[in-house]
Amino acid sequence: MRVLNREYFILMMRFILISFIFLSLAGDAFAWQAPNISDVRFGTHPNSTRVVFDLKTKIPYRVNSDSCGNVVVDFPSGRIAPKITSSRNAVIKVKDGVIEDIEIGRIGKGVRAKINLSKRGSSFKSSLFKNPYRLVIDVRKSAVIRAGLHKKDHKIEVIIIDPGHGGKDPGAIGRRGLKEKVVTLDIAKRVERLLKKTRKVKVIMTRRRDEFISLDKRVRIANKNKGGLFVSIHTNAHLRRSAGGFETFYLGESKTDDARAVAMLENSVLELEERPYLLDLGRELSKILWDLRLNEFRIESRELAGIMQTNLDKRLSLRNRGVKTAPFYVLRGVAMPGALVETAFISNRKEEALLKKSSFRQTLAHAICNSILQYKNRFEKTRGFTE
Ligand SMILES: [Zn+2]
Repeated sequence: MRVLNREYFILMMRFILISFIFLSLAGDAFAWQAPNISDVRFGTHPNSTRVVFDLKTKIPYRVNSDSCGNVVVDFPSGRIAPKITSSRNAVIKVKDGVIEDIEIGRIGKGVRAKINLSKRGSSFKSSLFKNPYRLVIDVRKSAVIRAGLHKKDHKIEVIIIDPGHGGKDPGAIGRRGLKEKVVTLDIAKRVERLLKKTRKVKVIMTRRRDEFISLDKRVRIANKNKGGLFVSIHTNAHLRRSAGGFETFYLGESKTDDARAVAMLENSVLELEERPYLLDLGRELSKILWDLRLNEFRIESRELAGIMQTNLDKRLSLRNRGVKTAPFYVLRGVAMPGALVETAFISNRKEEALLKKSSFRQTLAHAICNSILQYKNRFEKTRGFTE
């Protein structure tokens, strides 16, 4: 019995040892296969170019500049996804006047990316973001180039006005039968008239009749016309009939249940659309697009929403519900700063009555128009907003 026990013990030890060796080898092999840098992408902005390294997990990195001022990013334990480079080196051409190209290659056990700048004197800033992890390098144009920038680059010339809903999608309906789609179109037309009068901007409407326009098409109209600003007009609704007031949203994650509910309401039109394009996008792609939009115009959109809410507050005697963030589909797609205004609650008896009045609609239009002009002014004066 004792002998058996000893043999059994030795056998077990061997088994454990072999398993351990096998597991560590397998672990190594697995680690070698799984990339932790899933993508490298860039975006050109008026004053800077942003390079983003999408990471699977938090990995160590170093950012330096070489003797020519180019940015060198080292990931000592970086493993790059084969879609970026199957060979040892890859070059991503940028050529936007700020960055020439990005060279990516393996170095030792890690990865090195060299961001080659077009001109000397550009400065850069690196930041690591979470959820998902990504290293962001912003290269600012050199002061010399910035000064030489054509003024036009900082002008907002085209305003996109987006009257919510339309056609088969009535939007929310009040207890007395007032339809959101009717109110939003009328307010939008009033905003358009007011803006046109100033002769300061060109206005593009995503619809001017009672017709159904998919969210996707609204986005296409906005982007095709190279809008400098996007304003979507809506009326709010809530099952609790006493709910009332005005609020302005910009793109972000819902922080409260109420904000989540509003986004669900406004996004629900997706179900009416023939092509469920939300599902067309791969999950990965939509995540990346989402991420990109969130970063790109966040500061500007927050500024716009803030101005909007302040102006509405000045003119309305309704409850100020504040500036909020929520993932509105229509804001997510537009390549410009944008805000969505929930003017008042059509589900609230008193506010429905107000929304029916042309004087109230005109007041709203004035507030929205002034906000747009104020934003334009500030943006052009400061040549874009920075954090
Ligand atoms: Zn709506």
